[in-house]
Amino acid sequence: MTRLPSEIDVAIIGAGAAGLGAAHALKDSGLSVILLEARDRIGGRAHTIAAAPGIPFDMGCGWLHSADRNSFVGIAQQLGFEINKARAPWRQQSYDRTFPSADRLDFFAAIDAFYDRAEAAAESETDGPASSCLEPGNRWNPMIDAISTYINGFELKDVSLHDMDAYEDTEINWRLSAGYGALIAAYGAPCAISLNTAVSVIDHSGARLRLETSRGTLGANRVIVTVPTNLIAVEAIRFQPPLPAKVDAARGLPLGTNNKVLLALDGGAALPSDSGLRGATTSSSVGSFQIRPFGTPTVEGFYGGSFARELEDAGEGALSAQAVDEVVALLGSDFRRRLSPLAESRWAHDPFAQGAYSAARPGHAGARAILAAPVDGRLFFAGEATSPHFFSTAHGARDSGERAAQEILRSSERSEV
Ligand SMILES: Cc1cc2nc3c(=O)[nH]c(=O)nc-3n(C[C@H](O)[C@H](O)[C@H](O)COP(=O)(O)OP(=O)(O)OC[C@H]3O[C@@H](n4cnc5c(N)ncnc54)[C@H](O)[C@@H]3O)c2cc1C
Repeated sequence: MTRLPSEIDVAIIGAGAAGLGAAHALKDSGLSVILLEARDRIGGRAHTIAAAPGIPFDMGCGWLHSADRNSFVGIAQQLGFEINKARAPWRQQSYDRTFPSADRLDFFAAIDAFYDRAEAAAESETDGPASSCLEPGNRWNPMIDAISTYINGFELKDVSLHDMDAYEDTEINWRLSAGYGALIAAYGAPCAISLNTAVSVIDHSGARLRLETSRGTLGANRVIVTVPTNLIAVEAIRFQPPLPAKVDAARGLPLGTNNKVLLALDGGAALPSDSGLRGATTSSSVGSFQIRPFGTPTVEGFYGGSFARELEDAGEGALSAQAVDEVVALLGSDFRRRLSPLAESRWAHDPFAQGAYSAARPGHAGARAILAAPVDGRLFFAGEATSPHFFSTAHGARDSGERAAQEILRSSERSEV
């Protein structure tokens, strides 16, 4: 592990995709750089585990969203990671009886019309909750809300219409069989990182910045803050003197709840691999499943919003139990003895994330730019929540780190760093 120096040119707080993107962009700058990471590993919300022998599982990010504009695609190619370009099964179902095709067509027409109305409404200067674009009484509203919990981590009533519209989705989504977290860990491997180093105070009162950390104090000329918004919002890292505009911006961009679960599937070889499974539903409290991802003998489930939060609060195992119940209800009682829990994430209870990804509250779409803005030419901000169009994603986070590094390089052209 890298020793904690007492002085540095640039300290980057957080070794997730954003911090690593910043470190890479500074590597030939001639500046001394260190990443300070609270965990005992790099990657943050990108984390691939070995759920079973030969079965890597992404507890956090898994999809290379907007893959045709995703900077991790080129990095994966350079690092020799195999990219799986199979179409995401979100609009297809292999089990017609659980969600008949006529219903599916009707549902997709309803959700497409919802997004069209939202796009038109976002032209107006007044922001509001995205739920205002639901058609009153439409039978698919709970399911449209369920999709919002997967995409935004919140129900539509808690999501800003303007923010939702600002997200750029090219609808090309790829995966990595070895895991997105594994790619980001490999990307970060060459960087200088001090692990188990939680920063608690950023003192910017003097000529030099001083960081208080769990491994001692560090002086720096420039700092890049990349920690998740929920930690800035509760002042887990304190600025001295305080920066209320940053704390308010972070509070307007809370991380919602999203969790993943992986179940082992016994005797599932006859089931189609990489197929989607979702029950036609009148409730937003429901999971979305992928049967045999990458052809493995597993079922992956995804939950979001207040239901995901409830399950997480209910304690370890509650998410897996719910997923088993839902798959059994969809595929038949024979599946109860064929499914067993392998892994589940608990991001809201993770002390260094406290949630999944950011969504602006209604009226707070402008908070992303406020959070991203440098302070005093010395404090810089990155992280997925600061990305103008690719927020909530790993590539948006990485690109934001690169942007903050470029701000530092421009500022150091003007003054001696
Ligand atoms: C369940 C789930 C599914 C997802 N799916 C996708 C997906 O399919 N595709 C996609 O692109 N994105 C997805 N995401 C989002 C993606 O993982 C994140 O947007 C991205 O990884 C965030 O990177 P970051 O660098 O901004 O933040 P982080 O990865 O959170 O990095 C911040 C780092 O700061 C550290 N830190 C916190 N506090 C301190 C402190 N006091 N001192 C020092 N270090 C500190 C943290 O430990 C962390 O390592 C998903 C996320 C979740 C949770």
